[in-house]
Amino acid sequence: LQAHGTMLRGMGEESIGALVVFNDLTRQRRLETMRRDFVANVSHELKTPITAIKGFVETLLDGALDSRDESEQFLKIVERQVERLSVIIEDLMSLSRIEQGEEHERFDLEPEKLAEVISESVNDCTVLAEGLGITLKQELDQDLTSPLNAPLLEQALTNLLENAIKYSSTDSTVTIRCYEEDGRAIVRVCDEGCGIEAEHLPRLFERFYRVDKARSRQAGGSGLGLAIVKHIVQIHHGRVEVESTPGKGSDFIISLPLVS
Ligand code: ADP
Repeated sequence: LQAHGTMLRGMGEESIGALVVFNDLTRQRRLETMRRDFVANVSHELKTPITAIKGFVETLLDGALDSRDESEQFLKIVERQVERLSVIIEDLMSLSRIEQGEEHERFDLEPEKLAEVISESVNDCTVLAEGLGITLKQELDQDLTSPLNAPLLEQALTNLLENAIKYSSTDSTVTIRCYEEDGRAIVRVCDEGCGIEAEHLPRLFERFYRVDKARSRQAGGSGLGLAIVKHIVQIHHGRVEVESTPGKGSDFIISLPLVS
């Protein structure tokens, strides 16, 4: 805590009081550290694919271009790394747009049927699920209405469904449920996938936090999906939690206010 003090004096310079201003330096320092960590993380995330691209392009220019097979193999790697860069940049832009909108209260919430938004998100994910042999199931109370920004909530649910699919194995089922509990709407995304050890749960919604970096990268993740979900849920005056059993699966649970 930092304090600045000034004596307050009356007309005849007599002391009539004191003004002390306290500054919460701990909070400022914490914000500064978070900002620095974020820049370091972004730089690292971008540097890895760029280094790979540079290496393979140099190898191509150094002579690998002469072999068609080798060229094709290297160019496919370059293509994948460029794709990875564009996913990271798109998610970074999305997160920054959402954070700015949140700060300036720019997102309108309108009463909408939750089931309709959920079904849209499920539609967005069917191709990914089918490709990986995963069944998508919906169990939705059709009557629940919440104050929503439909495109934003759809983005959050799509992120949760994509994770549920990405971290599951073939032949398993991902179920999305929506029901009322204690006067709130609950949206629950359940998978039968690899699950998450308890020690990771408190940090899961931090930017770039991953349990298994290699698996996240291989699945095409930026490490920003859950941070985006957290902000979108906050904009909806909701809460998001996770329950997980390693080896059995995970449930991501969003609770939202209902329109009466
Ligand atoms: P990513 O792009 O890496 O998936 P997210 O922010 O969406 O980033 O998720 C952060 C991390 O949380 C993931 O890297 C993964 O380790 C873990 N995770 C998220 N969803 C699930 C899930 N349904 N099952 C198991 N692990 C998950």
